[in-house]
Amino acid sequence: MFPASFEYFAARSVEEAIELLTKHGEDAKLLAGGHSLIPAMKLRLAAPRYLIDIGQVPGLSGVNVDGETLAIGALTVHADIASSDLVRQWLPGLAEAASVIGDVQVRNRGTIGGSVAHADPAADFPVILTALGASFVLVSPSGRRTLSADDFFIDFFTTALKPNEVLTEIRVPLPPSGSGTAYSKLPHPASGYVVVSAGVLLSRQPSGQCLSARVAIGGLGSGPLRAKATEAVLQGQPLTAEAIAAAAAKAAEGANPDDDLYTSADYKRHVAAVYARRAIEEAARRAAG
Ligand code: FAD
Repeated sequence: MFPASFEYFAARSVEEAIELLTKHGEDAKLLAGGHSLIPAMKLRLAAPRYLIDIGQVPGLSGVNVDGETLAIGALTVHADIASSDLVRQWLPGLAEAASVIGDVQVRNRGTIGGSVAHADPAADFPVILTALGASFVLVSPSGRRTLSADDFFIDFFTTALKPNEVLTEIRVPLPPSGSGTAYSKLPHPASGYVVVSAGVLLSRQPSGQCLSARVAIGGLGSGPLRAKATEAVLQGQPLTAEAIAAAAAKAAEGANPDDDLYTSADYKRHVAAVYARRAIEEAARRAAG
């Protein structure tokens, strides 16, 4: 199907994009890689009258270390995150998540900013970024604000982004030494999107006990869910296979997934424990060096 007709603008700067968003309000949409918005427009699930392409705006792409933070430009494509030496060195779980998104074409066109702004409940980045304690830099005519992942993702396809805000950067704290990150995904066999996935950041004491853990699960609700019961069980425990399995068994605690055409809610709860265990084991192995 063809999308409804629209007027196209190619913004040359963040300021120009904000100006156009402010002028056209709810009738306008930003276009980044177009790999979520264009399909939605073709299905007439979205019909913006004004499309503001930020794809060529300079300065919004790339990965840099900024103090104690990894700063990722909103226009950085999935493939560049998967292959970035900085990401692989500091946050291998994020590189893993980027490398299992869609196919080669999607990974070379889709942007991390577009993925989190779209907030698909079956997307990969929201899960791992929640586990990593990432924050999002949003710019509007009123200035710049930074929101944590926990505050940014609100509901199905809904974030805290205001209509005239541009997401410019994703900031991820560099984990201290003795930490490990990992991402594990059960992809839908037809679409490749998340059925269930788990993202983990954990820190390990030299004695082998878990100092702290953040575990996020995808596929069980309207967005990434923190597996707080799993995190609490891990805390202070030796990172043995038994302790990890006991903690992972609680990955779906408090979640209320729905049955869908592919699978049942019970199956999702079951695989959430399996994929949480795999991600925690891998993060613990990396934390041990
Ligand atoms: P766009 O489609 O351009 O935009 C998406 C939304 O975000 C729009 O509402 C737009 O206005 C808004 N937006 C974009 N950039 C900004 C910004 N900087 N500030 C504010 N708002 C902004 N994703 C997965 O996670 N896992 C998968 O397995 C997966 N498989 C896919 C398979 C296929 C065949 C396709 C087509 C897509 C798949 N995707 C998957 C989605 C893909 O990752 C998208 O590229 C991504 O979700 C959106 O990024 P984009 O740059 O294409 O955004």
